[in-house]
Amino acid sequence: MRVRASSDQAPQPALSQQERGKATYFHLGLTGHPLGHSLSPKIHAAALQACQLNGEYVLLPVAPGDWQGLQNLLARLRGGALDGLNVTIPHKQSVLPLLDELTPTAQAIGAVNTIYRRGAKLIGANTDAAGFLSDLKKFLAESSVTIPHSALILGAGGAARAVIYALANDGWEIAICARRLEQAQQLAASLPGRRLRILQPATCALPPGLIINATPAGMSPTIETSPLPETMAWHKDGALYDLVYNPRETKLIKNARAQGISATNGLGMLIEQAALAFEIWTGCHPPRDLLRAAAEN
Ligand code: NAP
Repeated sequence: MRVRASSDQAPQPALSQQERGKATYFHLGLTGHPLGHSLSPKIHAAALQACQLNGEYVLLPVAPGDWQGLQNLLARLRGGALDGLNVTIPHKQSVLPLLDELTPTAQAIGAVNTIYRRGAKLIGANTDAAGFLSDLKKFLAESSVTIPHSALILGAGGAARAVIYALANDGWEIAICARRLEQAQQLAASLPGRRLRILQPATCALPPGLIINATPAGMSPTIETSPLPETMAWHKDGALYDLVYNPRETKLIKNARAQGISATNGLGMLIEQAALAFEIWTGCHPPRDLLRAAAEN
């Protein structure tokens, strides 16, 4: 199937004002696997409440490789039984052939985390990139750190792709450090025209600028792991953004803070990407502080 790009420069709500009036109940959900510890239902329930909209956000697990299950779920969205769907691991890429169009961002990243319906069409969007950049800017402003506009990304998986796309479009100089060189090379090749350098783990001394952990190292339950050796010295003109948010303070964040480095976790990105998806589906802009309070509750 040929996938055409739908504009995501100025996202319009998936439903018109008139349609929204008619939609008295928003049927929203998340697919992926496993979903047991997802914070998304809490975040979206808070968004519905803050926007005074009726609706629900439910977990719709589909096991890895269950192609029929994924097709059935998307048929429900196409048929109107669902109004919006978030997609997480392992289906962010496997849903692509089931969609009619992709936004330019989703097409460039090659992954979808938000699906909406426009008329009879299913459109795939990616709010991870914008969600990350928005939260990064907030973090840098609030922590008042002055660092060079350069970033070292640890990992070269799906999240790294969204992060690198966002940073490259924002004019950052980027280096990727992944334990599998081939994966980093594939990522760099798929984003042509950007200033990307690839570093091998052995050469990954910490440069000045932003360090971003886009690996699951340190995530619960393996909270004693870290993508960098504990003994590694941080550059004084550095800052850390760890995409992991469970636990809130990873081993990597602890190490950085112990050396006086400003650091944050990925909870802000999670909230921001959720809020942006919610805006696409409903046209309402939920207050981020209420969503954060719900996620932390
Ligand atoms: P992914 O596609 O599986 O990619 C993971 C990357 O990390 C791969 O390059 C992988 O390399 C590498 N990696 C895995 N374990 C490692 C380790 N112990 N040391 C060094 N590198 C390691 O996963 P993803 O979707 O990119 O997600 C990465 C992390 O970001 C997860 O913790 C996820 O929860 C988080 N995330 C957060 C948000 C948010 O909103 N805050 C959004 C998306 C993702 P190999 O292929 O060699 O294993």
